[in-house]
Amino acid sequence: MKLISYLLHICEEQTLNPGWRLAIPQDIKMGLASKRKGRWRYRCWQKLFLALIGFPLAAGVLLVFVAIFRAVFVHQQTQSVLHILNNQVVDKIDESQIMQRAERLAGALKIPSVSYATDNQEKEALLQLHQYLETNFPLIHSASFIKKEVINTYSLLYTVEGTTKGKLPYLFASHLDVVPVDPSTWEVPPFGGKIVNRTYIYGRGAIDDKSGVLGIMEAVEYIIQMGQRPQRTFFMAFGHDEEISGKRGAHELAKILQARGVNRLDFVLDEGFPLSKGLIPGTDKHIAMVGISEKGTVTLELSVTGNPGHSSFPPAESAIGILAAAVARLEENPQPSLLGKGPESATFKYLAPHVSFFYRLLYNNLWLFSGLMAREMERVPLTNAFVRTTTAITVFHGGIKDNVVPPSAKAVINHRVHPSQTVTEVIAYDREIISDPRVRIQVKTSREAHPISPFGLDCIPFQMVIVSIKQVFTDAVVVPAVFIANTDTRWYLSFTTNLYRFLPTVVAPEDVNRYHGNNERISIKHYHEAVNFYYRIIKNADMLTDQVPSSTINNGDQEL
Ligand SMILES: [Zn+2]
Repeated sequence: MKLISYLLHICEEQTLNPGWRLAIPQDIKMGLASKRKGRWRYRCWQKLFLALIGFPLAAGVLLVFVAIFRAVFVHQQTQSVLHILNNQVVDKIDESQIMQRAERLAGALKIPSVSYATDNQEKEALLQLHQYLETNFPLIHSASFIKKEVINTYSLLYTVEGTTKGKLPYLFASHLDVVPVDPSTWEVPPFGGKIVNRTYIYGRGAIDDKSGVLGIMEAVEYIIQMGQRPQRTFFMAFGHDEEISGKRGAHELAKILQARGVNRLDFVLDEGFPLSKGLIPGTDKHIAMVGISEKGTVTLELSVTGNPGHSSFPPAESAIGILAAAVARLEENPQPSLLGKGPESATFKYLAPHVSFFYRLLYNNLWLFSGLMAREMERVPLTNAFVRTTTAITVFHGGIKDNVVPPSAKAVINHRVHPSQTVTEVIAYDREIISDPRVRIQVKTSREAHPISPFGLDCIPFQMVIVSIKQVFTDAVVVPAVFIANTDTRWYLSFTTNLYRFLPTVVAPEDVNRYHGNNERISIKHYHEAVNFYYRIIKNADMLTDQVPSSTINNGDQEL
């Protein structure tokens, strides 16, 4: 209002004294001068109106027009390889052995191949799992074109030699280990491998990630059972310590591949998000988010050193108090919203054609609505993870005795770094927020977010993954996304830019907490779909072998 009053004042001044614009000659008659003064007043008000209302209104109308235009006219993608893959008879694995396959997975879930910490794993169980796979997949283990190798004692590498030479091989990654359990909080024994009501297979690893390992093997076993052999060479790389970094498993698997001259892969497919419903507003379809990048991570140790003393005459501020204030500031001031600045803008562009008009308006116009959407998404921890680098205070230590002022306090902060931010930027932000030189910040571990894998129309592996998903999950909307957790893919970054993370099973919203949680389970129906997905990947990869060249390396964001 102050601004408007000021402008009105200027306008009146200008009307009365317009000399700085146009000097009125002295010899003009008083009548003419009065008329002119009226015109000046009119023009000035006209300009004021345009400045205050007209231009902003026009800009607003233009923004709304552009937003609606983008919402209406940005259509669903036509996929370049779709016509090749769709001109085929899409065969799937027969359902006659569905229960046997479920029982084989249940049997693997009985083996407690737990990773507790580095150098603390159930190693006997890992060897038992090797034996179990050998016994239960006899065709794979006797096929002349499949070589099995045990890497670093506990990981497995299978090389499936295709019939066609000269094409880049690809790699399926999965892991043999699982996270620990607290059996007292489970309704079924976590390593009981129980099938309930012929519907669900329960057990630690049912989703993460024994359904991956056995799902891939079931697909290959079926192909051999049908008297077939894949055309393209591929690897099945099963690490044994993904849950505790993958350093001894996938890292060693990658080194072995390099040592034998396998420096390039067409694509890598690892675990990732499952299909979900209800997470994205505006659609009731299943959403398949294929991970095209993975968040980075940085773990910081914050410490404060104080003067120890008797608690009967404590200092005004203790080490615990100073540190507590610092971590509280970090929680109160989350890292900045980056919605729309990273790959998630592609997620929403791909979603846009499949949602109601209101949400299409939002999703196609992140440049305008990212602030609004970020505020909504940050209300839920899971969607907040897409918006920004997250901040988790995971450890807090301080104090040694009831009546002693503590000599020091320590806290650990675990950030998951958004692909649009660097580790250095994250730490700099923390320093600014803490703004207390008494708090020492040390980096324990850090890793930048993964590069963004290509996901455009010209990226054949990505399009092939999309088609394979749709062949199995026919109502699914497939979108590129940032994977918010970590996988073994980091060890394969140098082999290809085409790294994709996807778990081919449906997880209902109420089942999300079973991930690394209690009562982990997979339905028999969804496990069958997972096996079918891996089967379709092998078939589609073979089909593209003869008809299109190996993958191109190009991020096709501009083609969205
Ligand atoms: Zn996993």
